[in-house]
Amino acid sequence: MNQKRSKSSNLSKNDSQDQDDQNIKDLQSFNSDLEDKVKERTAELNDLLKEQGKSAKMLIRRDLELTRANEKLQKVDEMKSSFISVVAHQLRTPLSGMKWTLSMVIAGDLGELNNEQKTFLMKAYESNTRMIALVNDMLVADRVQSERMRFRFKRVNIIDLIDNILFEISPQASKKNISISYKSKFQDIPQAYIDPETIRAVLQNLLENAIKYTIGGGKIEIDVKKDAEHLTISIADSGIGVPEEDKKNIFSKFFRARNAIKQETDGSGLGLYIAKTMVEKNGGKMWFNSVPGEGSTFYFTVPLK
Ligand code: ADP
Repeated sequence: MNQKRSKSSNLSKNDSQDQDDQNIKDLQSFNSDLEDKVKERTAELNDLLKEQGKSAKMLIRRDLELTRANEKLQKVDEMKSSFISVVAHQLRTPLSGMKWTLSMVIAGDLGELNNEQKTFLMKAYESNTRMIALVNDMLVADRVQSERMRFRFKRVNIIDLIDNILFEISPQASKKNISISYKSKFQDIPQAYIDPETIRAVLQNLLENAIKYTIGGGKIEIDVKKDAEHLTISIADSGIGVPEEDKKNIFSKFFRARNAIKQETDGSGLGLYIAKTMVEKNGGKMWFNSVPGEGSTFYFTVPLK
């Protein structure tokens, strides 16, 4: 009986030895598979890194090319800007000379003129005035864009500033029978922190446009609202409005909508570009809403601090 048990115990020992050997073999094969896989992945990773290195070099090269192209563009832009500035300056002197001569002739300083002569000379005088205004706009647009414009910030009562401009432009509005009014009575409007010269030019441009692009008998309403950090000034007119397809271009240099050219042949298309740039340099924003044929409202903000 005992002999039988020891035989069976020997048998099971052998079994377990076989099992262990098999396990070790499995483990070794698994290990070698794993090593192969790791080698494979490492090779793949190295390839990837090489590719990335190439891409990074290419990106750096492209970046350099772009920087150089940008520098070239800036130089061309500066050249264009100084060309405009030189041409405009050169034009201003002879134009002013013409204005002076024409006004002398019209006033009869060089002898009496008949009515026909006077009418023709008056036309020449008006054209000359328009050209001077255009040249001035070109110079201002160039100055405001090239950072050469000086801004002197101070605390300003915006309502006083608007009143002041209204006093100057009301004859233009009366001529067309256009009423200009404030939307509400203003109370507690704090002083804005702005450069009064440039904001005055902005207000003047918006109000003159509102008069220019409103048909006789229309109305213009001004409003001023405050929030914690800004004042928002709006100028609403009952004028011709801006056609849908032209809305995106309205602040671009020299742009004039077709309905505006029809209504008013005179204009440089620089006013709104200058006004928006000036508002931004004062720390504000400018935008507008318009319904063609019904009217437009131009808005801008100015900072309180
Ligand atoms: P300009 O008045 O000399 O043409 P602006 O730069 O002041 O130049 O205005 C650009 C264009 O924007 C105008 O030609 C006109 O098409 C449009 N615009 C400006 N203001 C108004 C307005 N209040 N109503 C309708 N269109 C306007």
